[in-house]
Amino acid sequence: MENFEGILETGIKFHGHRCPAMPMGLKAGLAAMKTLDVERAKDKELSVISETGKGHAAGCFLDGIMTATGCTYGKSNIEKLYYNKMAFTLIDNKTGRAVRVSLKPDFFEKALASPFVQLRKAGTPPQDIDPEIADPLINRILGLEESQFLDIGDIHSVDVKKGKGVFDAKRCDSCGELTFINKLRVKDDGSLLCIPCSGYDE
Ligand SMILES: [Zn+2]
Ligand SMILES: [Zn+2]
Repeated sequence: MENFEGILETGIKFHGHRCPAMPMGLKAGLAAMKTLDVERAKDKELSVISETGKGHAAGCFLDGIMTATGCTYGKSNIEKLYYNKMAFTLIDNKTGRAVRVSLKPDFFEKALASPFVQLRKAGTPPQDIDPEIADPLINRILGLEESQFLDIGDIHSVDVKKGKGVFDAKRCDSCGELTFINKLRVKDDGSLLCIPCSGYDE
């Protein structure tokens, strides 16, 4: 695996701006991987179930977790529970071993009181926040020991759902677009329709 600087660089490019929450997630993801003794997922070797949601501060945390673990939206090995909590579970899909990692409440309360979050609250976009404000906060995160900001749970077992990807696609009889067959619906007249053309919800 590439060194930490390389991963951080990747994370910042992917995420789009410099903020404290992405590096928090990056370090939390790496801590979870170290606990399970697993490598970054090349395919779907790992899964993440995140308890973050949307429309709340520090959601950027999850982009750090994705960067570290290789669990991504495209590979569908990441799921959000929308609990609006700064926690996630990393699962080793080969063994079913899992660990839940969360931000310590004391640490996160202080982070929410930081000038960065106050400016965000007042409506400043993250990319417009002065590096003189953002960088010391980011550097502080980068220098933290895991035990200073993370609660790392015990390793436990979970049931791993195994499914094979679908490789066969057919054209929708209405719009003509190629659709993977597990999402084509059969109408009474035998025609195959994609979800939007079928009128079904799923
Ligand atoms: Zn961010
Ligand atoms: Zn269609």
